[in-house]
Amino acid sequence: MIRDLRQDPNQSCREEASTRSETTDEPKPAEAWRHPPMSGKMPERKPFGRHEPPRNYPTDPDLYADPRNFMYPLDKPIRARLARRYFDELRNRRKYTEQERLFIDSRIDEALKRFHMAPDEAHATVYSRTDRRKLPAELSNDEIEKLDLDELLQCSLGRARFERAKSIPGDLVSLSSSGGVISGTVKQYLVNIDLKRRVITHNCEDWKKNMKSRLMCKHIGRAFLAIGEEEATALLRRILSERDQWTFNAP
Ligand SMILES: [Zn+2]
Repeated sequence: MIRDLRQDPNQSCREEASTRSETTDEPKPAEAWRHPPMSGKMPERKPFGRHEPPRNYPTDPDLYADPRNFMYPLDKPIRARLARRYFDELRNRRKYTEQERLFIDSRIDEALKRFHMAPDEAHATVYSRTDRRKLPAELSNDEIEKLDLDELLQCSLGRARFERAKSIPGDLVSLSSSGGVISGTVKQYLVNIDLKRRVITHNCEDWKKNMKSRLMCKHIGRAFLAIGEEEATALLRRILSERDQWTFNAP
């Protein structure tokens, strides 16, 4: 097709030339993300891997976070988000070596960036869309009483955060309880649960971002895991049923 050069052909040519010179060496936009700077090592063929792409999924191995096994497709925003969600689950991560995990993580993050999503946002979006767990606000007190500690934590954190909470080693948790206040640290973050005043104070970024919607972070989840099943269960049931009376706070 012949381009319309408008009133000022020279101007138009200059613009075109300068645009072209900037992009000549770059791959076409659609291809650019396929070869980002890679970390880690591409996963080997795995016993659980696929020999061919699943039906209705891309046939090009480059469109997968794990190309040799056709796992974790990244061709669409929703698939990139699901890849992040599934690959955040410990049982899936465990199937790869550390270097392979690095590779897959960097490919997924690259895809999320390409779809203009921060890796952290991926979790929230996936949960609000596809996770059918009830929000704490929707649970009746009878239902809350029937939940065990794992279920209470999954309601309070979401599944991916709950898995990450469990993966924080015990030696990074230091808590004590006195006068109705549980306080200390998880990793480098402050934790303070005031049972009388009904205030939880904590200072990580995830907490600050989500405390208004009363979604707990992995550190607070880890704190509950550390204080003993019976006490944690009772306390979480209390927090969920008295939800409106608790304040989630940052210092
Ligand atoms: Zn936190």
